[in-house]
Amino acid sequence: MLTVENLSKRYPNGLLALSGIELRVRPGEILGVVGGSGCGKSTLLRVLSGLEPPTAGRVTLNGTDIASPREEIGFVFQEPRLMPWLSIRDNVAFGIRHLPKTEQTARVDEALQRVGLADFARCWPRELSGGMAQRAALARALVGRPSVLLLDEPFSALDALTRYDLQDHLLELWSYERPTMVLVTHDIEEALVLSDRVVVMQPGPGRIQTVATPALPRP
Ligand code: ADP
Ligand code: ADP
Repeated sequence: MLTVENLSKRYPNGLLALSGIELRVRPGEILGVVGGSGCGKSTLLRVLSGLEPPTAGRVTLNGTDIASPREEIGFVFQEPRLMPWLSIRDNVAFGIRHLPKTEQTARVDEALQRVGLADFARCWPRELSGGMAQRAALARALVGRPSVLLLDEPFSALDALTRYDLQDHLLELWSYERPTMVLVTHDIEEALVLSDRVVVMQPGPGRIQTVATPALPRP
């Protein structure tokens, strides 16, 4: 269980980005988070990931405080953020480079296979299309076998066809190990199609509201 209790975040410049947030995400659940620009969606994800410390309140995963980034939490950004000086294989392996070489190879091969990039392991990031690079970013996030996958507008930079393709693909990836997912998007349709539950963030204290539990069948 991923739990957020009375979470507030004030940036050093004084801006109060989050206040009084309460949230519970069940294991294996796909939670959609929607809301207007600047309402704190990215801030929430960064605090959930341990990248950004909360000002007040707690974030816990199975009862343990999340105080820093860790392997069991994967993150996908809007842009792939691949390291241009590393091959696709080495980009995907980066987070598990402490594992034995044979284990690394097996896991990277499996992750690349799952995202449909098995034939591109030796390519450089600049050789991939936007959609393929974002697939590599998904492989990198999943190779550590995270129990939680956080996605911040993962498809908004892609053209519509590539976006639909990757949305379908995300559910397939989820089905292998069923990580808990928190998907931030400004696209309400995307949230409704992909999520088990959708919450809306709004300005003001206690700024999360459950709006819908979509009954749409998973493709
Ligand atoms: P969203 O993802 O919903 O667009 P953000 O979490 O990015 O919202 O931003 C919430 C608010 O916090 C915005 O007003 C934004 O300008 C501000 N903000 C975001 N990051 C920082 C930062 N590092 N320092 C100061 N203010 C920030
Ligand atoms: P995606 O498949 O991720 O949606 P695109 O639609 O842009 O990305 O790419 C369509 C197909 O074109 C890919 O599946 C791939 O087979 C091929 N392709 C794209 N870029 C390259 C490349 N640099 N080298 C070889 N094949 C490529």
